[in-house]
Parts: sequence; C-alpha cells; structure tokens
Amino acid sequence: MLVVMKSSASEEEVVAVVRAIERLGFKPDPMPGATRTVVGVSGLNGHGSLREIAAMPGVAETVRISKKFKLATEEEESRPKRTVVKIGDAEIGGGSLALLAGPCAIESHEQAFAVAKAVKAAGAQIFRGGALKPRTSPYAFPGLGEAAFKILADVRREFGLSIVTEAIDEGSVALVEKYADMIQIGSRNMQNFTLLRRAGRSALPVLLKRGMAATLDEWLHAAEYIMAEGNQQIVLCERGVRTFAQHSRNTLDLAAIPAVRRISHLPVVVDASHGTGHNYMVTPLARAGVAVGADGLMIEVHCQPHEALSDAAQALTLQEFAELAAEARAIHHVVAIGRNGTRAR
Ligand code: PEP
Ligand code: MN
Repeated sequence: MLVVMKSSASEEEVVAVVRAIERLGFKPDPMPGATRTVVGVSGLNGHGSLREIAAMPGVAETVRISKKFKLATEEEESRPKRTVVKIGDAEIGGGSLALLAGPCAIESHEQAFAVAKAVKAAGAQIFRGGALKPRTSPYAFPGLGEAAFKILADVRREFGLSIVTEAIDEGSVALVEKYADMIQIGSRNMQNFTLLRRAGRSALPVLLKRGMAATLDEWLHAAEYIMAEGNQQIVLCERGVRTFAQHSRNTLDLAAIPAVRRISHLPVVVDASHGTGHNYMVTPLARAGVAVGADGLMIEVHCQPHEALSDAAQALTLQEFAELAAEARAIHHVVAIGRNGTRAR
C-alpha cells in the first residue's frame, strides 16, 4: 500500500503516519517528493488494520497495490499462466473452443437424447440441462428433479458427453456430485456464500455464472469464495446483466471477457442464450463472444424450441446450433492466430 500525504502535510504528520505504520507491525518507507511525501507500506506480518491510516491528519489517500483476489488473479508465481479446467473427459481453457450445449431444462428422456445426439455430432463436448430450475415465477416449470439427474447420467453414458447442471442450494450439490461432472452456480445464486463455500469443498469443477447485477469485482470475489475452500477448478460465465435495454432479455457484456482475462487466469465462457433471450440474437452474439476471447460458449438448444417448457424464445434448433458451432470454431481459430502472434491476449 502507498500512503499519499497532502501537499500541506506537516513534518509531524508524516512522522505520526510512519510511527502508526510501525505500531501496526508493517515497514514504512517515506519517499519525500517535490510537492508531497508518499509513504510506502510493506511487510506481511502486520497485526492491525491499515484502514485507520487513511483517516489520520495530513493523509490525502491510501492506494492499494496488492490484488484483492489472491487466488483468482495471476499473482501467484507458482501458478501456470492460465487455468485449464477439466470436466470429465472435456476441458475448458486448454486452447480449443469449448461448447456447452443442451436444453434449458431436461423435459424427458427422448428430448434430452435427441438434443445430446445432435450437439455431440456438431462438436459439443459438454451437455447442459437443468434438473432443478430457479424460475422467476413459483408457478413455472421447476424441472424434473432427481428424474432429470438420472437422464443426465444416461446421456453421459450413451454419448460420452460431460455433464454440467445447476445446484440451486447447498443441499442439491450432492445430487450434482452423484450424477454430473460440473456444478453450475446460477446468476441468482452468485452471492449465495454458503453455496459457494459448499461448491468450494466439492471435487467437481464449478461453472460460476455472473450475477445479473454483479460487477467484475463481485464476480471474482464469488470465485474467490470457492477457491478459498480449496477448489481451484472454476470457469466464469458471462450471461448478460440487467440494463435499461428492452430489445434483449439481458445485455451481454462482451467487454467483460477481455477485462476478466486481463486480471484472472480462470477460463471464461459466454452464454449467448440468457445474454440475449431471443433466438435470432444468439448466433451473432455467440460469434462475437468468441471474437472477443471467450474460451467457450454455453448455448441452449432444443429439438422443438416452440414446445420447450422453459426459455423457448432463446433456444436454437439442432440445425442452427450445428451451423453456429462451425462458425464459432472458425472464429476461434483466427483469435488463436492473433494470440500466438505478437498480441498477448
Ligand atoms: C441456466 O443457465 O439454466 C440459467 C438459469 O441461467 P442464469 O443463472 O444465467 O439465469
Ligand atoms: Mn434457460
């Protein structure tokens, strides 16, 4: 941390700040400048809070240097540059484009198998599908529960796809652990701290969706909750945020992708389905998501979109998904050429 003194600060005020830093167990390093003094603060063994320094007479401001997200950023030298997350036999962040696709909700064995067969043929490695749905209305389809988890396990067995599905509370994490390969934490639960801690104690990787009104800071702090419990296998998912826009369900924040990649080593995927809410917008925004650097796409796909029991308006048909998958891979190839060249990200 740096303590920036006011240009009007007296010698005594600088000395008082230096003494206070020492008293708290840190090492002060006063650097007198032409107009003001800056005091550097170092040392790991301080026993008090440096917050009180900011309120001392003569102090203009304190500037934090160390990063807030100890585990979610690239600060640790021992860590390889970017995290690769393993989901069963699949991976996200390892260099090839990850495709997570499937219906919003598992509705039947037939529906899940029809979608799984098609998305697998189109190149998806991970199958998504809600067994427990956090619905806005208590009267809307809540998912088939354990029956849907069993269908998901059947999909894994039949098609060799890895499975991601949502845990809506602490209690349902055990069901995801029993039947699936990755725990999805939904937008509405991004700051459910007991759920985050429970996922942090799981052996399964976590797909952490951004809260619909969450800043990047809050999103990475949520990841930090999971990592602090020992689980480092986290994929961030941008799924749009609430804005004044009425032309889309949410506003897909594409700038969040390079922003997150700049500060965190965690892979990040784009959910263009919830991010737009409209079938006709999903493909263009998904293409854009790959172009701005996403490690993967999450896409809702249905064999009969008009009959879907949830999120019908945003589901792609099987054919639309196959076309998107091919286009997205081509765009990803171009982005990879850029990354391997002179541009770092
Ligand atoms: C979902 O992916 O099924 C879902 C409910 O998304 P979100 O949590 O982003 O609304
Ligand atoms: Mn949905």
